[in-house]
Amino acid sequence: MHNASEKSAPRQSRALFIDRDDTIIRDACYLDRPEGVVLLPGARRALQRARRTHRLFLFSNQSGIGRGYYGWEQADAVNARMFRLLGIGDPLFDAVCMAPESPGRPAVYRKPSPRFILECIDQFALDPDACWMVGDRLSDIQAGLRAGIRAALVTHGNPVAPELADYLRAHAVPVYPTLGDCVAAIQADPAVAARADPRRAAASVG
Ligand SMILES: [Mg+2]
Repeated sequence: MHNASEKSAPRQSRALFIDRDDTIIRDACYLDRPEGVVLLPGARRALQRARRTHRLFLFSNQSGIGRGYYGWEQADAVNARMFRLLGIGDPLFDAVCMAPESPGRPAVYRKPSPRFILECIDQFALDPDACWMVGDRLSDIQAGLRAGIRAALVTHGNPVAPELADYLRAHAVPVYPTLGDCVAAIQADPAVAARADPRRAAASVG
């Protein structure tokens, strides 16, 4: 079912929902300074390639806002720095969700809530069978699965805790060492690659 839809879905209805910390940039633990942004190896190229075949959405839990550690302006400044370092062009993401809730508070957008994904599926007329949530934590995976899309874990060399490994196995969630490997695997279906928008592909090769 998934494969058939993935093959037939146009680029506009395929999407990757991508976590930020320890998926695109190094998790600096309540990062509140733009100068603290460090891209993970291969992240830039992975996103360049991903946007040829998929819409991209950034989906990050930022409980530092809810905890009062930093404000929206600082969070936005960190993102702006990340976008500059990526240097891929604007807008890279069709929508950005920074979920500010702290744990223990009622979660609206905070992963594992699937709300942001579900709203984007509706708003952008996405095909759930052609969408993935990509991240480094259980909450990323759960948000994706609860939204009815597929999910993949990237480790960037970090060990996978046994209970997380059990969950991934039980739900047939693939694991990749880097975002680049993950994107390559999702794009491995040649039918998907063949339908990439050639103008965007040409513009993003670099
Ligand atoms: Mg993360």
